[in-house]
Amino acid sequence: MNNTFQFYNTLTRTVETVIPHEEGKIAMYTCGPTVYHFAHIGNLRSYIMEDVLEKSLRYVGYDVKRVMNITDVGHLSSDADTGEDKMLKGAKREHKSVMEIAKFYTDAFFADCAKLNIKTPDVVEPATNCIAEFIHMIEVLLEKGCAYLAGGNVYFDTSKLKDYYVFSSQSEKELLVGVRDDVEEDANKKNKNDFVLWFTRSKFEDQALKWDSPWGVGYPGWHIECSCIGIKHLGEYMDIHCGGVDNIFPHHTNEIAQSESYLGHPWCGYWFHVNHLNDKSGKMSKSSGDFLTVSLLEEKGYDPLVYRMFCLQSHYRKPLEFSYEVMDNMSAAYGKLIKKIADLREEGEVDLAFFDHYRQKFVDALSGDLNTSMAITIVYNLLKEDVNDATKLALVKDFDQVLSLGLQAAKDKIKADQSDVDAELESYILAKIEERKAAKKAKDFARADAIRDELLEKGVALKDTREGVVWSLVN
Ligand code: AMP
Ligand code: ZN
Repeated sequence: MNNTFQFYNTLTRTVETVIPHEEGKIAMYTCGPTVYHFAHIGNLRSYIMEDVLEKSLRYVGYDVKRVMNITDVGHLSSDADTGEDKMLKGAKREHKSVMEIAKFYTDAFFADCAKLNIKTPDVVEPATNCIAEFIHMIEVLLEKGCAYLAGGNVYFDTSKLKDYYVFSSQSEKELLVGVRDDVEEDANKKNKNDFVLWFTRSKFEDQALKWDSPWGVGYPGWHIECSCIGIKHLGEYMDIHCGGVDNIFPHHTNEIAQSESYLGHPWCGYWFHVNHLNDKSGKMSKSSGDFLTVSLLEEKGYDPLVYRMFCLQSHYRKPLEFSYEVMDNMSAAYGKLIKKIADLREEGEVDLAFFDHYRQKFVDALSGDLNTSMAITIVYNLLKEDVNDATKLALVKDFDQVLSLGLQAAKDKIKADQSDVDAELESYILAKIEERKAAKKAKDFARADAIRDELLEKGVALKDTREGVVWSLVN
């Protein structure tokens, strides 16, 4: 492979070239959603950027295997193992069973992903599928002396590690930046950062899903699922692990602790974290219940791909502030871009030298710490170039394998938008005809005539026939 690919590795705190464990192949893992509610557009920012990372790696020639878990058990309302299970909270809110909630919101998550052109990972595994694997890993950790039993629960013993704060040589306070909600102290823990591997006892006795285990009937802690599911599908060495920045601590820190203690060697070399989407009042979070979804954006008339473009226009490492004003500008820019591409004609021969030269520019932008806004600028620059349309079209289609902005289907998109407008116009005309009928019935002939004139001004003529009113477009 000629291309090197670089991004910011949270583990080493530098922009680094990815050197996979097995040449030409990338084992990639993504922390999936906790399916107790709809994904908000903040969550989806992370998934969009991870999708671009995966597609960029494929674009430069890597054979990528990507795995994602679905958190359907064990994620408590505080990331620090206290509070109620989030899934149970969702089930209570909607008077449904936990598994019904999990199914509904898992489907809703993938429907949102499809609208945003986010590819489904090669493997998707719900946590509740893997209870036997979790129990096995916990048994090994106990055997190795890295875990202990206390108050009915199994805890990971962080004092057995050389370096718990692997992600930062700086203060613990800095790592706590992403931790959500209140943190209560658990008197069973030997060390402050120890975390639960298996619960048999919690303050919340009504945990719905429980399984038999050597330590009693109970349920797994949150972090164990990503270690187990990662190792199950990708083997002992993972190349890239992704998530939002709030996952750095404690979730990813704890994943490393338990995976490396279990395996007895380093586990994952590169950690890719996406910064948060905020709104004016701060970070968007599911637990607050007040958040924006893809459906809400659609209801307000935005194409979900406009939101994808909004995310790609900003660097994944920077916080991003959402506003409708910016979305409106993005919508206009997206419409213009699609129109320009739709106007290109499939004529002439592709200029291969030009194609390769531009493709390399695109690769350089992506492999230079995933510079997606530069990648979009390259598309704009291309459209201004003095080269035939066939070459431009071929490049746009090629780039869209990574950008996934619907650029490949620009012509179809314009047609679909036009038929939307037609449908809108038709329903407007029919409403006006009904209004005129009502005015006539009420003997308000002045109003009826005004409606007829109003429509005529818009290029629509009405004709009263025995069969009823018929309309036609006039020039
Ligand atoms: P969750 O469903 O809460 O487990 O989160 C799913 C993914 O979204 C994780 O990778 C989180 O780190 C990420 N995430 C959560 N909140 C935000 C946000 N406001 N902006 C970007 N990513 C987020
Ligand atoms: Zn995870």
